[in-house]
Amino acid sequence: MTLAEAATLLERNKSSLRKDGSQNTKIVATVGPACNTYEKLLELVTAGVDVFRLNFSHGTHEDHLKVIGHIQKINEEHKLHIGTLADLQGPKLRVGKIKNDALHLNPGDLITIVNDESAEGTADAIYMSYDQFAEDCEVGEHILMDDGKLVFQVAETNKKDTVKLKCVHEGILSSNKGVNLPETNVKLPSMTEKDRVDLNFILTQPVSWIALSFVRRASDMDDLKQAVKESGHSAKVMAKIEKPEAVKNIREIIRASNAIMVARGDLGVEMPIEKLPITQKEIIQMCMQYARPVIVATQMMDSMIKNPSPTRAEVTDVANAVLDGADAVMLSGETSVGHNPPLVINTMTRIIEQAECHYWPQIEGKRPHAVVKSSMFYNDVICFNACRTAEEIGAKGIIGITRSGYSAFKISSFRPKANIFIFSDQLDMLNIMNLFWGVQCFYYDRFTTTDETVEDCTDILKESGYVTTGDVVINTGSMPLQKRTSTNMLKVTEVE
Ligand code: PGA
Ligand code: MN
Repeated sequence: MTLAEAATLLERNKSSLRKDGSQNTKIVATVGPACNTYEKLLELVTAGVDVFRLNFSHGTHEDHLKVIGHIQKINEEHKLHIGTLADLQGPKLRVGKIKNDALHLNPGDLITIVNDESAEGTADAIYMSYDQFAEDCEVGEHILMDDGKLVFQVAETNKKDTVKLKCVHEGILSSNKGVNLPETNVKLPSMTEKDRVDLNFILTQPVSWIALSFVRRASDMDDLKQAVKESGHSAKVMAKIEKPEAVKNIREIIRASNAIMVARGDLGVEMPIEKLPITQKEIIQMCMQYARPVIVATQMMDSMIKNPSPTRAEVTDVANAVLDGADAVMLSGETSVGHNPPLVINTMTRIIEQAECHYWPQIEGKRPHAVVKSSMFYNDVICFNACRTAEEIGAKGIIGITRSGYSAFKISSFRPKANIFIFSDQLDMLNIMNLFWGVQCFYYDRFTTTDETVEDCTDILKESGYVTTGDVVINTGSMPLQKRTSTNMLKVTEVE
């Protein structure tokens, strides 16, 4: 590499804001009115955010457009690879307007659900955004509203347009509250008309991930993937697991997705809540086996929407998600509408740091092995043994070069003790990989010979202070370089 080339590459990777790699578990923060300016987003990045979530249940396309622009600018100005996750609402159900915004209900009270959007919102006529509800529901099924605060049972349905619900617990129903139907065979399509409109907009934007809510089966993801593919967009797809049906079909959904979100908000309403902790652990474990990044979401630091410190239960929850093996932990209202988003990120960063001090004894038995059945078996074995070898010789880092991201998915899923340095010439891929556990992303676009590439990457890391003379690093890559096939090389390098 000439001096000029080296200087350019160094400059492209030089960031005063990049994390030092001492933390592996990533942070996803939802953007909203409390943090949607350039300055506030930058403050959150400085505090430790790796990926921003745009929630398409709220806000206009114009709002999202501005935020995407800010994130792009942050990435360009600070040489970072902050990812953007566009979250589609999916078939989320809501009631319409409620008269005076409050309907007091006692056990035994009956309310009538109708198809008429202009319904008054009294007990006699409440609109719900699900026209086939009367057809699809059965007498006796449970209906939950407002995150499960209100519980009803279907008392009567005319199988056409009117359903009578009997109140089980007392409570107050207000306008536009969400409705969950854990026992009903909901026949709505996985992507609503609104989702299609949102997706068309999203596919014109540089987002890294597209998530779909209320996924029920693998084919729901196929539709989304097809739409992304047809548009030629590079975004990867994520399934939000928030229905018991999705938990039942979890293996197929994981296979059909690039990443998974354990969306505990709706999942905790739709399934017996006491089963939530073990479901979280099982989904995380399975995601590690399939090398799919997994996010744990919702109510992680909920009390910090208002308070300056989290509850004991919340601290323990974040730490446990880290020790379960999650790739990332997510914040919703805490950052989108909370009182002090940067403080939330700082606090979360401290919890992650402490939990990770005790990481490997907890994770040891959960780490995956390369599976013989995989069509990428050789590649997988190289990645797996790169991690193994790094451990045995106490290497400072594993250096991977990838175009498709495949080996980064793999190396990260093995949860190695060494740092994971991933180099790519695909900027969109670098933003995607920023979500992965432990992965630190670097730009590299010189592909001359394997020897030179190994040397260049090591130089960049040394010049940027990630490794020093005497450190040992493990290189993975493909030989011959020009062919750019999948990973087939493993090398041990001592930093000069
Ligand atoms: P939501 O998804 O915030 O879009 O509802 C997350 C969840 O349900 O946990
Ligand atoms: Mn949800």
